[in-house]
Amino acid sequence: MMANYDLHTHTTFSDGAHTVDITVKFAEAMGLEAVAITDHLTPGTRLYEEEGLLDIYLKEVERASKWADVLVLKGAEATILDLEGHISMDDETFSKLDVVLVDLGGHSRGIIRDPPKSRSKLLANVTKCVVEVASNPLFHVLAHPFSLGRLPEPIEPSHIPQEDLREMAQAMRENGKVFEVMNCTFWWFPRMEVKRFTEQYVDIVRTFAQEGVSFSVGSDDHRTGVGNIGWSLRVLREAEVTPEQIVDPKAFLDRT
Ligand SMILES: [Zn+2]
Repeated sequence: MMANYDLHTHTTFSDGAHTVDITVKFAEAMGLEAVAITDHLTPGTRLYEEEGLLDIYLKEVERASKWADVLVLKGAEATILDLEGHISMDDETFSKLDVVLVDLGGHSRGIIRDPPKSRSKLLANVTKCVVEVASNPLFHVLAHPFSLGRLPEPIEPSHIPQEDLREMAQAMRENGKVFEVMNCTFWWFPRMEVKRFTEQYVDIVRTFAQEGVSFSVGSDDHRTGVGNIGWSLRVLREAEVTPEQIVDPKAFLDRT
């Protein structure tokens, strides 16, 4: 198997259905090699706003990592705030975590928040944003890249110019950032058939792979199942990503 882990899960510390313990048991029961607990750490979420809650969360994840027969990583999912590559993460918090994901979300100004009217401007913003954020040292993994199919003017994977993809991929490779192939990425593209969407996403992943970017997989579990990575593996296979280009979850423990 190319990858047998889940580096993207949510628990009751944010908007997931299960506690940390159940999530970890799920991972162990599924026979995964590793699981990362990556609750949302963005403005407006409990972990971000409530004083002291982050430490309680980290302690709980750490406790689970002691009893579980699966590697458990302390993670969080931050979000991109603007086109200059600022994210909802600070040095102190980053230093307490094993793995940090960052996504494009409702706080990402100029893309999902206050998007420009024209599609070409929006596409230009996406490219600028990914290139800028790539050099931000406070994260490891770009979560479900290009999840832009629910905007008023939806962007399909094939709308992104090839040269822009290469530019973003190079910035990510130079900075060692990982591209997450998230199992439910199709959710962001309600207007596309799964087959057409998958073909287009495979093309994107292939381009990033050709530029030397590495990949991770995750379920983004809220209630759909830890370790659900069937589609992720299919995309990696169809994009001809080599096993060497898939990150080893243990590597996150060695980073500082
Ligand atoms: Zn998530």
